[in-house]
Amino acid sequence: MKGGFVLVRVDRPPRVGTYGNRVGGFHVSCPECGQPVAREWGSAVEALKHAAPWSLSCPGCGVSLGPNQVATQPPAALARFAVELRDVGSPDLLSPGSFVGLLGQDFRVIGVRG
Ligand SMILES: [Zn+2]
Repeated sequence: MKGGFVLVRVDRPPRVGTYGNRVGGFHVSCPECGQPVAREWGSAVEALKHAAPWSLSCPGCGVSLGPNQVATQPPAALARFAVELRDVGSPDLLSPGSFVGLLGQDFRVIGVRG
């Protein structure tokens, strides 16, 4: 892979995990109306971690949002596992096309610092 990386690690927490910026957190909003939904999303994530079914409705427009249908800034995602690459040498390596077919399922590439 272009640019390479220093370390690869698979993170597989016992329950679904939140992956994204570890410093400063992130904003969570409805992609339909822009209403902030951080509180509702956090409650839905906690419920999911305790094996409750996912449920999140935007208080602004009422649309139902799936676990990864919210807009986050900077990018973040819920996942059952992550492949972490450290000290990536090229931004091209963060292109999802670099990994097509590698994991055999839908995935997101999230660049973080720190
Ligand atoms: Zn909304």
